Parts: sequence; C-alpha cells; structure tokens
Amino acid sequence: MTHVFTFADRVANLGVETAFVVAGQAAAHAAAGNRVYPFHLGDLNLATPEHITEAACRAIKDGKTGYTANVGIVELREALAKEFNRTRNTSYSGVNVAVQPGGKPVISKFLLTVMNPGDEVLYPNPGFPIYESQIEFHGGVAVPYGTVPGETNFTFDINQLEQAITSKTKILIVNDLHNPTSAECSAEDRRRIAELAVEHNLMVLLDEAYFDIHYDGQSTSIINEPGMEERSVVLYTFSKRFAMTGWRLGAALGPEDIIAIIGKLNVNDESCTNHFVQWAALDALSGDQQPVLDILDTLKQRRDLCVDMLNDIDGVSCFRPNATFYLWPDVTEAMTNKGFSTYQDFIEDILQQTGVSMCARSHFGTPLPGESRKYLRLAYSGIELAAIEEGLAKFKTYLES
Ligand code: PLP
Repeated sequence: MTHVFTFADRVANLGVETAFVVAGQAAAHAAAGNRVYPFHLGDLNLATPEHITEAACRAIKDGKTGYTANVGIVELREALAKEFNRTRNTSYSGVNVAVQPGGKPVISKFLLTVMNPGDEVLYPNPGFPIYESQIEFHGGVAVPYGTVPGETNFTFDINQLEQAITSKTKILIVNDLHNPTSAECSAEDRRRIAELAVEHNLMVLLDEAYFDIHYDGQSTSIINEPGMEERSVVLYTFSKRFAMTGWRLGAALGPEDIIAIIGKLNVNDESCTNHFVQWAALDALSGDQQPVLDILDTLKQRRDLCVDMLNDIDGVSCFRPNATFYLWPDVTEAMTNKGFSTYQDFIEDILQQTGVSMCARSHFGTPLPGESRKYLRLAYSGIELAAIEEGLAKFKTYLES
C-alpha cells in the first residue's frame, strides 16, 4: 500500500536485535521441511516453574486484572528491594524499584532519563545490540569497548574502556556476565570499573540479566563497590532465572529520584506492567527455589556437552564459562579452512548444510579495529541434550570436511 508518511530522522538510527533475524531464517529452513538445531536465540525451552504459573492463574481469578501503580505493586517493589539487599548488599527499599514489562525497557528508559544528545556512552561491543541501537536512536554517541580472551574465559578490556573516556563521556553501560561472550568480571575488574566511574563521574547502567545464571558459586554485583549505588541503575529481569521470557517482567533499581522519572516514563508508555504477572513474580521470589536450581542444572549439562563437542572440532576452541547460557567459540581456523570471509555467508552455509542455526560476531555490533579472530555465538538455552549431540556432530562433520 502506498502511504503518506515521512519518517523522523531518528528512525534511521534504530537498530534491531539481529538474533531475531537469524530466527526468521531458521524458521524458513524448518518450514521447508528441514531439521533445525536452534542455537541462535537466548530463549529457554524450559517451562516456567509450576508454582509461578499457578500464582498467575490465582491472581487472574482473584481479579488482579486492572491497572496497578505505574511503578508496580508495593508488594513486588518491596520484595525486589529485599532480594537486592540480600544478594547485592544494597540499601534499597520499595521506592528504589520501578517494575517494568521486561528487563529490556530499562535500557531505553535509563538513557532517556540521563542522556542528552551528543553525550558519549561507553558500551560493550561485542554486546547486546539494543545498547547501540538505543544510544543512537536517542541522539547519543555510542563508544564501544571490547572483551579479550583470558586464561579460562573472556574478560572486559578495561584498558580500552579507560582510554575511550573523554570529557564528553557521561554514561557507562556494563553487562557483567555478558551476552554474547559470557565474560565475567574478576574482583579486580569490578574495583577498576567502579574507580573509573567514580573518577569520571559517570552514570552507570548495570545490566544484570544473567546475574542468577551462575553455575558454581554466586555472582557479585558491581553495585557493591564504593560509590556505585548512588550512580547506578540496575537492570533486573525475571526472564532467564525463572524461565519467564515471554511473561515480560523486569525492573529498574536505583536512587529514588531517577526511579521516579523512570516511573513517569512508565505512565507515558505502558501505564503499568501486567497486573497478575506482578503477583506471580512475588511467588517467584518468595516461593520454592528448587525449580530454579533444576533449570541451572539442566543448563549446566547442556553447557558441558556443547563445550566438549566444540573443542573436539578441528579449528574451533571454546571456553567453559561459569555463567549465562552463551558460548563464544573462536572459529578463525575453521572459517578459513571452509573458505569463508563473511559471517553472513558462513552461518547461512552452516544452516543450509547442517540445520545448525547460530549467530555470529557480526550480530553483536560492528567488529572493532584490530579485531582479527572470528567468533560464533551459540545459545544452549533452547535446545535439548539429544539435539545438541546430533546438531554439533553434523557441525563437526561439516567443518572438518
Ligand atoms: N540484557 C541482556 C544482556 C540480554 O541478553 C537480554 C535478553 O536477552 C536482556 C537484557 C533483556 O531481557 P528481557 O527483556 O527478556 O528481560
């Protein structure tokens, strides 16, 4: 249909989450009658724990179906504050919490609240593509910092981060327990990041989407570091921990003033988050945690199988990260052996020849100058052990032929 619209200039800067594009290609391949092994999307094929779904049904029957306060029901705000004080040693109360329809909206609402056009924002690249999209959509300048391979896992390139700070840098986005590389800060990294934030008076978004997807030991938040609580907003989500991606529930936590403004954005955007889902979330936090441990156990088994199988392929090497459900194997030699120079051609050929669907480095930001190694991203959150075994066996045969 022809139409009369002319689009606002900012639309040209709006990016997408390109993993969804890969999902579309995988769906088309499956629709053509092919077997697909889905390693592309950070979604879980595990059920939300039953006590949570029951709580949601109960809440609907109890009439929790009207609007709530823009920032969420008091009970959930207080429960989240308590959860943070217990797990992250913060000093929050309910006023420090604005419930959101997912973790993702925290990114744009945080930027809209603190970023002026022209402000420089440091963000991880490779990283969750929505950071770059939202920074640029709202007129900021996206300044990337990378990750580097360490002994046993990727770490953030804090030297690069430090060098990228200028007098125009206002905001720092950190995604410790990182999508896509699974990079995890050491205690020293957390200290250095916080010191830089304080020294340069940066406002910080701590994206902790994977804080609870940690296999051995507990996660530690950068919010614990001196000077961080007053300058940070934390992105919290129920999506991954409780296998609730489609419920769309998360929260922004931070100083009362900024949370009040984020609450005003809630009124302007969605009025409030889905009412009965908030009551179910209360059960998620306070109810039986065994199903959450079971989810972690399942994910860990999948991780180990994937890592073992990937490291058994010529020209591929992969760390065994202790958190998230992503793997970021170095495939430089394998890609060269197969004669591919672009990621797009490589992953399309993998899909066509093997049915294995995955993302590549190029889906997580423009590669940085000097980057020479090639990486793919596999998510093991949406695929059973048997399918992992079958799919990665085909992947090995393909790469080694
Ligand atoms: N942040 C990161 C790093 C993510 O990977 C995701 C989802 O994949 C999100 C935020 C948003 O998740 P949700 O909106 O489901 O809470």
